[in-house]
Amino acid sequence: MAAEQLSTRCCVVGGGPCGIMLGFLLARAGIDVVVLEKHADFLRDFRGDTIHPSTLDVMAELGLLDDFLKLPHQKAPNIGAVFDGHQYPFADFRYLPTRCKFIALMPQWDFLNFLADRGKSYPSFHLRLRAEAVDLIEDGNRITGVRVDTPDGALEIRADLTVGCDGRHSTVRERAGFAFVIRKGAIEETKRAGLPAFRRSIARLAPVFASRVDELKDWDQIKLLTVAVNRLRRWYRPGLLCIGDAAHAMSPIGGVGVNLAVQDAVAAANLLWQPLKRGTLREDDLEAVQRRREFPTRVTQRLQVIVQNNVIDRALGAGQSLPAPWLLRLFSRFPPLRAIPAWLVGRGVRPEHVHTPEAPAGAG
Ligand SMILES: Cc1cc2nc3c(=O)[nH]c(=O)nc-3n(C[C@H](O)[C@H](O)[C@H](O)COP(=O)(O)OP(=O)(O)OC[C@H]3O[C@@H](n4cnc5c(N)ncnc54)[C@H](O)[C@@H]3O)c2cc1C
Repeated sequence: MAAEQLSTRCCVVGGGPCGIMLGFLLARAGIDVVVLEKHADFLRDFRGDTIHPSTLDVMAELGLLDDFLKLPHQKAPNIGAVFDGHQYPFADFRYLPTRCKFIALMPQWDFLNFLADRGKSYPSFHLRLRAEAVDLIEDGNRITGVRVDTPDGALEIRADLTVGCDGRHSTVRERAGFAFVIRKGAIEETKRAGLPAFRRSIARLAPVFASRVDELKDWDQIKLLTVAVNRLRRWYRPGLLCIGDAAHAMSPIGGVGVNLAVQDAVAAANLLWQPLKRGTLREDDLEAVQRRREFPTRVTQRLQVIVQNNVIDRALGAGQSLPAPWLLRLFSRFPPLRAIPAWLVGRGVRPEHVHTPEAPAGAG
């Protein structure tokens, strides 16, 4: 059977924080956009559930903050770390010059459902669930769309621009043949050290589980959530751009991945909505997105790797409790210093602001 054909200005692959935000912003600016999500809904475990002050600022700029904060959430005005049974306050968001001086802890599916629902009020927003991009369509060196599997059969979407927002195992990135800069992963080392050592690490790092670690009798009981930190050298090709985790997988450290993905989406929409609308999109426009977002990504990943190597790896590898790092003790002793990590985690390097307009109803 011949594949169904569809064409749009922009095809966004992946309905995570990055893809839904980008789809929302472009549709709001009157640009026809199709967002593809391979799952049937947003209900999945193990997604970052932290909405940071800079993302809350974006929601405010969109006029959505008050409604958004009506969804059930918890406010975390500060974060800390536990070492040897002692709590060390680390970042205090009350020092930030942002509208909301807290992290909102909220299931990510609530965030995505909220944005997707609001997106549906724009006629140019088309969200296709259970639609998995399986390949790119190429014309010479140019990407002109994607091939998609759906329960109703194959679909081919032609687009001026395809944006890979399909996360850290991105199909778009792989099909485009992009190359990585950094890769990280240590499950094999952990396995070599043996299950008893793993159980001891858990008991030491999370004493609350100490009485239950003996229930771990087999590696099959342990679900591996791949934590990778990597970054593409080049985020774009003619007709194609990767952003969010598809361009730079973030580790859970600092809980900043969702935030960074949202910031990428805001920057991409700011820089691309006009060329998309005029139909004049060029490679330079895509390069501008990488130029804008690469620096914040590099800095954030660097900080994640420093924390991973100096705190987490040491704690996992140590046979006994470690003393708190000196920096944590310093933050704990001098509260105003907690503004620095709060700034890095809650606001981030080069926070983005919404410059895309809201098109008048009926425009597109
Ligand atoms: C264990 C773990 C815990 C984390 N915890 C946090 C945290 O607490 N806070 C935080 O801020 N960050 C956290 N992160 C990082 C964070 O999850 C990511 O940085 C963030 O989700 C990236 O958003 P994204 O939209 O780019 O990608 P994703 O959130 O990965 O979204 C990609 C979407 O694309 C869809 N998709 C994939 N392939 C296709 C395809 N071929 N076709 C169609 N759809 C497709 C997926 O189903 C998914 O919905 C964590 C990461 C890990 C590994």
